[in-house]
Amino acid sequence: MKVSDQLQQDIKHEYAEELKWEHILQILERKNALRPDAARLLYEIRDDLIFYKDLEKEPHLCMSKSLYSRMFKIVYDNIDHSGYAQIHERLINLLYFYDLLKNLYEYIQHCSQCQLS
Ligand SMILES: [Zn+2]
Repeated sequence: MKVSDQLQQDIKHEYAEELKWEHILQILERKNALRPDAARLLYEIRDDLIFYKDLEKEPHLCMSKSLYSRMFKIVYDNIDHSGYAQIHERLINLLYFYDLLKNLYEYIQHCSQCQLS
């Protein structure tokens, strides 16, 4: 999935509103100042975006919680509301969602389009 420039801007903006990411940004900035090779951290910053470092794959862009519904909707519409396993697989391919299971389950439970069919 391609993350648009507009979405990247929104993500950066929302990090500051969310305690978890604000805290991680502070830690990363401090670590970078102390030692540039903060290789053991789970997260890294690139262009003010936070990436979760998955050991086996490409680093995953961290999403802000306030953007979850928007992302879920884009992906779920894209795969024609084909169920939990499918959307989960798409989402975790490139992005990192904190507390994904709980939030995604709730989103799908309340999807008005699925309830109609
Ligand atoms: Zn649906």
